[in-house]
Amino acid sequence: MHKREFLKVAGLAGLAAMADPKGLFAAEGHKTLLDGKAPFTLPPLPYATGALEPHIDKLTMEIHHDKHHGAYVKNLNDALANSPLGSLSLEQILARVTAKEAAIRNNGGGHYNHSLFWTLLSPQKTTPSAKLNKAITTAFGSWDDFQKKFSDAAKGVFGSGWAWLIVGTDGKLAITSTPNQDNPLMKELVKETGTPVLGLDVWEHAYYLKHQNKRPDYIAAFWNVVNWNEVEKRYDAAMKR
Ligand code: MN
Repeated sequence: MHKREFLKVAGLAGLAAMADPKGLFAAEGHKTLLDGKAPFTLPPLPYATGALEPHIDKLTMEIHHDKHHGAYVKNLNDALANSPLGSLSLEQILARVTAKEAAIRNNGGGHYNHSLFWTLLSPQKTTPSAKLNKAITTAFGSWDDFQKKFSDAAKGVFGSGWAWLIVGTDGKLAITSTPNQDNPLMKELVKETGTPVLGLDVWEHAYYLKHQNKRPDYIAAFWNVVNWNEVEKRYDAAMKR
């Protein structure tokens, strides 16, 4: 490798490490996507807070990442300090947590969901590959049907929660939603379990400053900034599990 090539690769690896210091979302072939352990840290956004404008505004991103996600991380670490779940990876924690451990459920879900969400957004326009397009249109009939079904799931969350595209335990793509910070990995708590490959936060804190009560406008804006490369990476990894 030429020196210049090496510096380029090393520089990219450095950037990736900065965006993902604990390797939370470093997909390595078949391995688990989440093998970091407590104490957890707030991963920096992989882009500037204003980079998603005009679709998602800078102030929302600042407060959402620094304050909301920051609080989930702090409260999760506090809750895990005296819990037998504290020695597990975040993914293992989500798979085991029950309704009795409310703080770990809410803040563990909050940390996982937001860490994932930031990577699923991109200031650069991306498009689904032919392979991903085929997988999605095969599952939902057409691309428009997929977008409508996902958007309807997001609109249909009563109060706070998330819409998800998951690879279910049967290996098939499905759309689902969860209340609050619940997540499809929470086997003890949610009806439809699977591996999330796309998620949308529909808590009011994700859109209220810009869109106030108009959640559908925020959902429409979201489609402009989806990182389809990341969705495909996660789809591929989920299919190998
Ligand atoms: Mn949020």
